[in-house]
Amino acid sequence: MIKEYIIGREGNQNFKIDDEKFSAVSRRHARLTVDEASGVWRLCDEGSANGTYIVDDKGNLLPVTGEVVVAPTTRISLGGKRYNALTIVAHTVVDGGSTFAPDFDELERRLADLKQRMSKKRNDLKWRRILLALLPIACLVIPGLGNEARFISISVASLLNAVLGSIDDPTTLAEERSRTIVCPKCGRALTDKDVERHCCPCGAH
Ligand SMILES: [Zn+2]
Repeated sequence: MIKEYIIGREGNQNFKIDDEKFSAVSRRHARLTVDEASGVWRLCDEGSANGTYIVDDKGNLLPVTGEVVVAPTTRISLGGKRYNALTIVAHTVVDGGSTFAPDFDELERRLADLKQRMSKKRNDLKWRRILLALLPIACLVIPGLGNEARFISISVASLLNAVLGSIDDPTTLAEERSRTIVCPKCGRALTDKDVERHCCPCGAH
């Protein structure tokens, strides 16, 4: 079965849009089509005054032109950068925001991916440090190498170690975590346990 929702101040989405607070939202702003059989969700603008956008992971607004496929966890902006615009998560159109299960599923997937990248980076760093530490020793024991060549090789190795160490700063991944692993309801950063169960401070799950 295909369900169709008109999102807007006079739409049939499963939550109410405040006329005054979100006046950048048109009466009929966008249309969400949910194909229950295939699980494909499609979004299009309904000729709204201020446009429909998809908000990506970095917070960029991507204008919706024509019909686009979205996920239940896709963030949708009705009205873009205007102060009276409204940002919603696609599944709230269907369930009214009574459950955050799709968001927590997505968070779990994102956290697993992040952890995998973190452990790969730690491993890469370990091997690079070992190799760079061995390089000066190799320079010292290679016979027939002049003192000047030994000195240059050792300097280059320690310089590389310092430069690569600062590029591969693991805090960038920690920052990504604090920016993306957040509660879909209250916006607080979540612990691993929170992601598995529910947001401790606000109880969203
Ligand atoms: Zn919360």
